[in-house]
Amino acid sequence: MNEKIRKIQHIIEPAPVVEGAGVRLKRSLGGEQLNYLDPFLLFDHFGSPNAEDYQAGFPMHPHRGIETVTYMLTGEVHHRDTLGNAGSIGAGDVQWMTAGGGILHEEMPQVRPEGNGGFQLWVNLPARLKMTRPRYQDIPSQTIPEVTTDEGATIRVIAGHVAGTEGAVTDIAANPTYLDVRIPAGSSFTHPVPQGHTAFAYVFEGKVAFVEDEKGAQQWVAQPALVVWEDGDVVKMVAGEEPVRFLLIFAQPLHEPIARYGPFVMNTKDEIAQALLDLRQGTFIWQEQVRS
Ligand code: FE
Repeated sequence: MNEKIRKIQHIIEPAPVVEGAGVRLKRSLGGEQLNYLDPFLLFDHFGSPNAEDYQAGFPMHPHRGIETVTYMLTGEVHHRDTLGNAGSIGAGDVQWMTAGGGILHEEMPQVRPEGNGGFQLWVNLPARLKMTRPRYQDIPSQTIPEVTTDEGATIRVIAGHVAGTEGAVTDIAANPTYLDVRIPAGSSFTHPVPQGHTAFAYVFEGKVAFVEDEKGAQQWVAQPALVVWEDGDVVKMVAGEEPVRFLLIFAQPLHEPIARYGPFVMNTKDEIAQALLDLRQGTFIWQEQVRS
């Protein structure tokens, strides 16, 4: 048995950022510390009990070339887009939006006594799908399967597979695994991550020890923190005297060139220039190509 336990490569302390029309959030990917973790382009943690930190929201804005994944923990966000989708996502729900060739959408947090909280992840699209047809998937909380491991950890399987259970979101280009994991006090968690995949954890409740070798060397990380692993076969963590909760996210890297400008992520500068031109000319929104 020579399964290699993945070691910590680096730990990112989320940086405060103001986005949209004035939403305060914590950014750990896509900012100054780590611009890109192939195939992940951005990771934001929003969360505040105070309406002034979130109510300005994200009025109508464009995206192209990526998929955006919103996972709500608290509160409610109203959503509408140029595909004609409109609705509301609440605690435990996921929205997986494929911007593809061009979409405009609006994400407006509603003022609630419990505040507003959750995560947004941007997953890159491979070059061949950058200009694909946009798609919107709404995944209500009750359709997300939950698995309890032999070690006692509880896993919400948002995307990917855990011991034969398939996640609620399927058919995503980069085929990422996205798990919301809780380890009770004193328990441990072990999970296979294929060699070559990019993997990170985002710790957002409590603290956890990352086990780094067979001898049990470990490193404690407290919330909020994003931990990027080195390559290997398996990740291993142990909770202390309190429970811990984190996201475990991994996928195969795309190894393609990146040209990014705000809400557009393409492969070349020319494609970014085209996106800006399309916006100005009113030809940004994806339309069925008519070919003869
Ligand atoms: Fe957006």
